[in-house]
Amino acid sequence: MNDDSIAHAEAILRADCGERLRSEFPLAPLTSFRIGGPAALYLEPESADDLNAAGKAIRETAIPFVVLGKGSNVLVSDDGFHGLVLRLGRAYRWAARDGERLTAGGAMPLPALAGVAFTHGLGGLEFGVAIPASVGGAVRMNAGAHGREMAHVLESIDVFELLPGAPRRIEATEVALSYRGSELPRDAVVVGARMSLVAADRVTIRARMDEAREWRRRTQPLAEPNCGSVFKNPPADSAARLIEESGGKEVSVGGALVSAKHANFIVAGTGATATDVLELIQAVRERVLAHSGVLLEPEVHLVGDLDLAIR
Ligand SMILES: Cc1cc2nc3c(=O)[nH]c(=O)nc-3n(C[C@H](O)[C@H](O)[C@H](O)COP(=O)(O)OP(=O)(O)OC[C@H]3O[C@@H](n4cnc5c(N)ncnc54)[C@H](O)[C@@H]3O)c2cc1C
Repeated sequence: MNDDSIAHAEAILRADCGERLRSEFPLAPLTSFRIGGPAALYLEPESADDLNAAGKAIRETAIPFVVLGKGSNVLVSDDGFHGLVLRLGRAYRWAARDGERLTAGGAMPLPALAGVAFTHGLGGLEFGVAIPASVGGAVRMNAGAHGREMAHVLESIDVFELLPGAPRRIEATEVALSYRGSELPRDAVVVGARMSLVAADRVTIRARMDEAREWRRRTQPLAEPNCGSVFKNPPADSAARLIEESGGKEVSVGGALVSAKHANFIVAGTGATATDVLELIQAVRERVLAHSGVLLEPEVHLVGDLDLAIR
């Protein structure tokens, strides 16, 4: 992407969003890995008008763009992202109840939403209480745990499609939610979601939430920067098991190491770079392929100039 296109996009966005548009904005603090470089352009949209301005800039300049949620499933390149990063602002952090349904904005944290469901005596979202997602990221990834996932509760999704520059409501059944993925259009920013829950006893909901939190504390390296599961589990198998069997738990590259607590987690230790993490992902992948013939598919999304092609 050439600098003229970035400058042109910046001028378009500056006219509509003023100083809220940031340039060379650090992304590392916005990710759970806490590594990676800056975004050439960064905006926290607070309205459809902001999203419209972003769409216009993207259409007119063809700059690359990416939507960031809580940043808990991304690895940002050390060189950052040479395009526009959008991260929904506070206006999209809300939740409302309507009978046994909850609606929420795309920036609402999933654990907080699980708390809202608990307050209203609504069951079905307990699985999300310890997943560090935003509603938008959880929808796109079909986040899940303990045998439950967003697909089980999601009714419809409100998106703003950047390329046409228009809002649209999509039924959950239309986006092919699958294991840690969906077929949401790439330019669709999830601005809200509607979930169908069931009335339940609060004591039971609380017990399920406590159990989910406790399981995580026991099994995951929560004190160190990571991105959750690095690889998807292959059908009827476990990525962590395959990694352990290949001896992957002993591997490290620079400051990045495979977690001693959970083999499918990579933790960014002191001085780790995104390049370290990427090379470690590659090394683990090659190890498992050589050992068991399985090519693990990454769950983590790469942002910026990062490539995981098998050479
Ligand atoms: C400690 C830890 C534990 C985890 N445990 C689990 C788990 O149990 N189950 C699980 O499923 N995941 C887990 N994860 C991974 C992660 O939390 C999920 O993938 C989550 O859904 C990512 O949401 P996010 O808001 O952080 O999205 P991001 O990581 O910011 O983005 C992920 C993807 O979603 C897209 N996206 C984000 N927001 C939007 C939006 N508003 N509109 C459109 N697209 C958007 C991004 O472009 C990107 O492609 C864990 C991560 C960590 C760090």
